[in-house]
Amino acid sequence: MRQLRTPLAAAGALLLAACAADPDAPPPPATSSPPPPVTSSPANPGTPPPTNPKPAAKPSFPQAKSQGGAVIKNPKIRPIFFGADELKSDVDAFVKKLETASYWRDTATEYGVGAVTALPAVSFDEVPPAALTNEEVKRWLEKKLEAGAAGPLGAPDGETLYAIYYPKQTTISFAEGGGSSCRDFGGYHEETVASGTKVGLAVMPRCAPPTGYKSLDLVTSVSSHEFFEWATDPFPYTDPAWSRTRDEDLAWMLVAGAELSDLCTAIDYTPLKPVDLGYVVQRQWSNALSSQGHHPCAPRRSDEPYFVAFPEQPDKVDVPFSFTETVRGSSVKVKPGTTRTIDVTLYSDTPGPEPWDVSVVSYDRNFGDGSPSKFDYELSETSGKAGETMKLKITAAKNADFGVFVVTSRRGRAIHVWPGIVSTY
Ligand SMILES: [Zn+2]
Repeated sequence: MRQLRTPLAAAGALLLAACAADPDAPPPPATSSPPPPVTSSPANPGTPPPTNPKPAAKPSFPQAKSQGGAVIKNPKIRPIFFGADELKSDVDAFVKKLETASYWRDTATEYGVGAVTALPAVSFDEVPPAALTNEEVKRWLEKKLEAGAAGPLGAPDGETLYAIYYPKQTTISFAEGGGSSCRDFGGYHEETVASGTKVGLAVMPRCAPPTGYKSLDLVTSVSSHEFFEWATDPFPYTDPAWSRTRDEDLAWMLVAGAELSDLCTAIDYTPLKPVDLGYVVQRQWSNALSSQGHHPCAPRRSDEPYFVAFPEQPDKVDVPFSFTETVRGSSVKVKPGTTRTIDVTLYSDTPGPEPWDVSVVSYDRNFGDGSPSKFDYELSETSGKAGETMKLKITAAKNADFGVFVVTSRRGRAIHVWPGIVSTY
């Protein structure tokens, strides 16, 4: 399940700001807000209604959806190291800080996840192999936990995350083309069973940080991603919890991934180093902020106007999501070989006169065989402001079937995105 892993490039994007394209990771979608105010004119009985422009469309703010599994109410995190790891004391201090800094509370509370307890780090005096599979990692942990209460990790505990920090010499990979660490993903969380108890684990490989950042920044950023996903979706295979969007928001899931951290790794490019935490972390998806029409990644930044352009998605498309399930997502239908025009509406939670740049790109290179998109996108304007509407002409090739596009809004260094789906069926 690729979405359980932190795409490496995406983690880099978080630190690098701006538009980084991620090989494995979703490009940026963005989010949104409340409908721009509609100018209503006082009605004068007897006179024809004034010729008001039609009210701007209201965005349907995307929402993550739980599949019903339990979250971790009292999360405990046990950092695990090998030998004399140079980042051990820093990572240890970071996890300890999560107990009291506002970051965890500001992101986790709305999902029913309580405060973090940092368990003392454990270092094993052994050198992990240069190549490990995910299965071998799980077997290793199970073995260590077999020692029970008297062992170095204590008795297996379903509310503890075993956070394993591997040295840079160790590459962890998945079978069947699932990719390998530092090339295809920057971390992941998993579940297994140790002495009859279901436990969660996270694997943090030691990857090279993006230029200009410290190794520790990447490690804490990836850790914040996996810790949060574990707490909100601890047993993704046997008891899936927060690992989806609503069906109608399928475009977001296709572009950004499915767990709560993935959604923000994909759309938020501003590094975050909260003052009371002192370490680099990523923001996390917030249904509350999204439904209020703000940037959907928490904690909220007061200095961050949320401006975004969202495409009309008047139709529905059924997309196979697994062997047994089809998801009915919002979309726009365009018949093969024809052109259809839809509205793209500009929205901001901080209305003002400042225009921003809007563009549309195909996201199809990330799907299937990577061949060029069979849809062409042409936007009527290149910039606009809140409340305005642009026209997006979508042309489908004769052999087109399904496409994903991203509407990108930029002002200065700020970038916000909103994905859409187009289909010919
Ligand atoms: Zn993830």
